[in-house]
This record gives sequence, structure tokens and C-alpha cells, in this order.
Amino acid sequence: MVGSIRALIFSSPTLISPIMSSISINLQAVRQQIVQAAQLADRSFTEIQLLAVSKNFDAAAVLEAVNAGQTAFGENYVQEAVDKIAAVQRMLPHSKQAGAELEWHFIGPIQSNKTRLIAQHFAWVHSVDRLKIAERLSEQRPANMPPLNICLQINISEKQTKSGMHISETVQLAQQVNALPHLRLRGLMAIPEPTDTLELQRESFKKIRLMQEQLNQQGYNLDTLSMGMSADMEAAILEGSTIVRVGTAIFGKRDYAQ
Ligand SMILES: *Cc1c(COP(=O)(O)O)cnc(C)c1O
Repeated sequence: MVGSIRALIFSSPTLISPIMSSISINLQAVRQQIVQAAQLADRSFTEIQLLAVSKNFDAAAVLEAVNAGQTAFGENYVQEAVDKIAAVQRMLPHSKQAGAELEWHFIGPIQSNKTRLIAQHFAWVHSVDRLKIAERLSEQRPANMPPLNICLQINISEKQTKSGMHISETVQLAQQVNALPHLRLRGLMAIPEPTDTLELQRESFKKIRLMQEQLNQQGYNLDTLSMGMSADMEAAILEGSTIVRVGTAIFGKRDYAQ
């Protein structure tokens, strides 16, 4: 599948030069880090999906990553994402199938007036933290699309201002989301406060993993832990992460001035 995308892009010489870009070099390095962390955790690296977080980078950067074999992308801002998804589709070689192979994940805070666009354009949403948003996503999911994959976002920092629900609310929200027809509850997501040591990073992620185990003991079948970014990927993988969300280490530092 990935090979076919690459072949199509290489066959369109004006689009992307076959010279190794820094994005493809970075992607290889991140993949290598995932393999090493998995080894350390005594896990298979195939259990860990790399989500390339392309927020603040344009469609050309996404295409470079696609060219290097990346198929799953994470976005934080709805309008930016919807425009970029359309631009990527246009820039990909004509075959519609090639575009359909890309998988878009929404990972940012969600305002209720943006749920329709999210339901229409994404395969996954990692940042559901209240029922109202989940209900709207379910209602607004187009009937011809598969159920929207959902992770519940837990705020494990003490700061109330951060997004995500308190961990004590997880059981109830899981029950409610599980009952919604056009959503498929897949797991949990968290963004811990940055800390310096591997041990502290692992402590936060462990809380999320234990919560997932608790839910699965109650009869859920959650297969996803969306944990780990550029700076704490290793700790997350050691604690069972199945999706790492990596931006900076792939695309470089983000320029918020634009
Ligand atoms: C920006 C962002 C990332 C990527 O962070 P990096 O430190 O650039 O790897 C991951 N997850 C979420 C929710 C983000 O907003």
C-alpha cells in the first residue's frame, strides 16, 4: 500500500525530488528510536504506530513524509487541517485511492462548533474529554463512513487549565461514549507535563495504562494508548503506548508566528 503511494509520487517528477529530504531522514531516525524503545520494553515495534503531527506545517511537508512511507498524520486546528487534507489530495497523483490510504487523526482541543468538520474529515479523534462533544461527533459522522475511532483524553497534570478530563471521570465517559452508535471507543490519550527524568515521565504514563487495564477488566476491549511525543516517546513506549504522536522530531520546530 505504502509502496504504491511512493511509486505514484516518484512517477511525478515535478512533485517531489527523490533526493532524501530532512523530513525523510528525521522519520527514519524516529522509527529507529521506536524500534529501540520497543526492544527495551520487550515489545514488538509493530505494536507501535507512528503518528506524524503536521500542525503548522504545509501540505508539501506532509507529502515529503508520505513520500518517505508515512501514512498517519495528526492535526490540532480544524480549519488548517481541512484545508491541508484537501491540498494533499490535490497534490497526490490523480488516483483517488492513493489519497484514501492516508489516515488523519484529530488531536487538538475541540470546540463544539467544529465537531461537524472533524466528523467529516478524520478517521480518529484523540482528544474527546466530554460527553457533549462525543454526542455531536456521533450525530455528525456521515452515514457512509466507518465509525469514528475515539480516544478519551485524560488530564494527568494538576493544572485545571489543561485540556482533558480528570482521571476519575474516565469510567463514566467511557460508558457513555461506548453507547454512541457512530463512534468506536479505542482507548486513552494523555499529554503529561514535561519533566526531565525518564522515571517521572513513566509515572504519568503508567497511570493511563492502569486506567486502560481497569476498563478492560470491566469488559471493554480498548487496544489504544495514545501517549508519547518527541520528548517523552521512550517512556511512553516503556509504559505500553500504541500510538506515539511526534511532530518536532519529524518536521522540525514549529513557527507559530505565521
Ligand atoms: C503538538 C502535539 C504533539 C507533537 O508534539 P512534539 O513535541 O512536536 O512531538 C503531540 N500531541 C499533541 C496533542 C500535540 O498537540
